Amino acid sequence: MPQKLFVTTALPYANAAFHIGHMMEYIQADIWVRFQRMRGAQVNFVCADDAHGAPIMIAAEKAGKTPQAFVAEIAAGRKPYLDGFHIGFDHWHSTDAPENHALAREIYLALRRNELIDVRTIEQFFDPVKGMFLPDRYILGECPRCGAKDQYGDNCEVCGAVYSPTELKNPYSALSGAKPELRSSEHYFFRLSDPRCVEYLRTWTQDGKLQSEVANKVKEWFAEGPDGKIQLGDWDISRDAPYFGIEIPDAPGKYFYVWLDAPVGYLASLKHLLERRGEDFEAYLADPMLRQVHFIGKDIVTFHTLFWPAMLHFSGRKVPDNVYVHGFITVGGDKMSKSRGTGISPLRYLELGLDAQWLRYYIAAKLNARVEDIEFNPEDFVARVNADLVGKYVNIASRAAGFLAKRFDGRLSADVGVEGRALLDALRAHSATVQQLYDEREYGKAVREIMLLADRVNEYVDAHKPWELVKHESQRAALHDVCTVCIEAFRVLTVYLKPILPALAQQVEAFLDVPPLDFAAAQRALGGHRIGAYKHLMQRVDTERLDKLFEAPAPPPPAAPGGEAIAPEIAIGDFAKIDLRIAKIVLAEAVDGSDKLLKLTLDVGEGRHRTVFSGIKSAYKPEDLTGKLTVVVANLAPRKMKFGVSEGMVLAASHADEGAQPGLYVLEPWPGATPGLRVR
Ligand SMILES: [Zn+2]
Repeated sequence: MPQKLFVTTALPYANAAFHIGHMMEYIQADIWVRFQRMRGAQVNFVCADDAHGAPIMIAAEKAGKTPQAFVAEIAAGRKPYLDGFHIGFDHWHSTDAPENHALAREIYLALRRNELIDVRTIEQFFDPVKGMFLPDRYILGECPRCGAKDQYGDNCEVCGAVYSPTELKNPYSALSGAKPELRSSEHYFFRLSDPRCVEYLRTWTQDGKLQSEVANKVKEWFAEGPDGKIQLGDWDISRDAPYFGIEIPDAPGKYFYVWLDAPVGYLASLKHLLERRGEDFEAYLADPMLRQVHFIGKDIVTFHTLFWPAMLHFSGRKVPDNVYVHGFITVGGDKMSKSRGTGISPLRYLELGLDAQWLRYYIAAKLNARVEDIEFNPEDFVARVNADLVGKYVNIASRAAGFLAKRFDGRLSADVGVEGRALLDALRAHSATVQQLYDEREYGKAVREIMLLADRVNEYVDAHKPWELVKHESQRAALHDVCTVCIEAFRVLTVYLKPILPALAQQVEAFLDVPPLDFAAAQRALGGHRIGAYKHLMQRVDTERLDKLFEAPAPPPPAAPGGEAIAPEIAIGDFAKIDLRIAKIVLAEAVDGSDKLLKLTLDVGEGRHRTVFSGIKSAYKPEDLTGKLTVVVANLAPRKMKFGVSEGMVLAASHADEGAQPGLYVLEPWPGATPGLRVR
């Protein structure tokens, strides 16, 4: 019986393009899926865009688009990445699709029938400046568990704790920088702390479905604290309007929190795929032989090992059979997590003409089955691709193909003699080991194993020297055998590498004129078969081109003479702390006793006037400014000056060294702006 597998990767949030971390996860899962198919498994491999939530709603609003149009644009940009890196999803869906709306509601209603949904009035953070309840991701503060600074309101990226935003210490709004206020609202909860859930999850998380390190980590959530209570709390699954998401049945104005409907997207994507093919979704999932496997990053373990299996089990659905967790990929030690991504751009990699399979091979060579971060190291990348992949493996074919074509019309010898057979048998004997390593996601070990086999083939070639044999007509049969052994060995190694290098394997199949290679094919000899013409299979990495990958995508603008360097990078939250407003200069006056300052009376739309002292007298006459609009820092702490209190700061451009390079330019908005409008 062939294995039946339903495999997913984590749903990317549809507010940005993919980063290298996404590609690593897709490559890891894609290799596994290709491997399973090569040994006969029936696999459905799906993913989807995670389309809902306040961050997308806010980003869409800023971009002047509907959330639907916003996520559609992001979705349209996915294909070049997936095709470019040979990621073979069977379907890519969206959590805003009808299947997901229906499934999320069904699951919720089943949980409610099971008495696992509570409605409680809770205090929640409200941004008094923005006039809305703040989404978790828009509240920053210190982690209540480990004290890490600038953590989001739902979980800590440092220690992995999951908590409610009101537990954060020293919270602030990322939208306005304001200190949020607590206001009450009715929220819906999934009763994860119900004894039924706790008992079920205690078993589910510890019975071999998870990597042992993940199981151990998850165990902490069931440990009893000093108060005798376990850490696992109930899960707030609702958000108040305005919200882009799925409205909760019978609860107008309440929406499912994005983390409730996102994993349901796995099922929605599968459902869409099966129904398109005319297959029955429920029947497919009901098959006891079906294995459901999720590949995820270490940042979303709790959602997938607690909430998700509990949601599924207590709504009467199939639960995951495995959740495979990987670490992050780093470049020079920088973490490239979901929200704070920096590092190599996958599209830039492709645009530079770098071979996608180099990255697939390099990532495979670094990956193991544990939750370890891997580092992208450019020197190591070049060495592994050039010395191993091309130098050891691809070269085997190029060393033999020419002689076979010229001397033997491309035909392999019928038999290769004792020594050649022994080598090929040894290579074939490693098939079980290689398959086991792929199955266990020990790709790094598999690659090492395969390269050791390639070393043995190259030793064989060096010992038999076909370039010498070709000089002596008496050695014709020996030459034929050596070249045949090379091609057969190359074919076996290609089978072993095919999950990692699917496009190269296809070229090899064309070159050898054989049907698509699988593990069974590796066990059979081609004896007497005529191969096709050899075409160059793979380039070495051009290090100059690789270097370009690490350059800034666009050259920085040339600095003007005496130009000022750009200040260190800040987060959007830092910028949001500065409240810039349009101000009308009601009156500008000279200040007695000051040759630098003008006294400005400003209308910032507050129903009162402010006084600001500004050092712009050298550039402006008071009468030129009166009546004009400008931009003011409205939340700057008032400053006591010799001539009075200054309540803000007017923005003006100047050179770093005003003395050497005079010129001062007060900012003025385009026509239409009115006093009090926020500049963002
Ligand atoms: Zn923490």
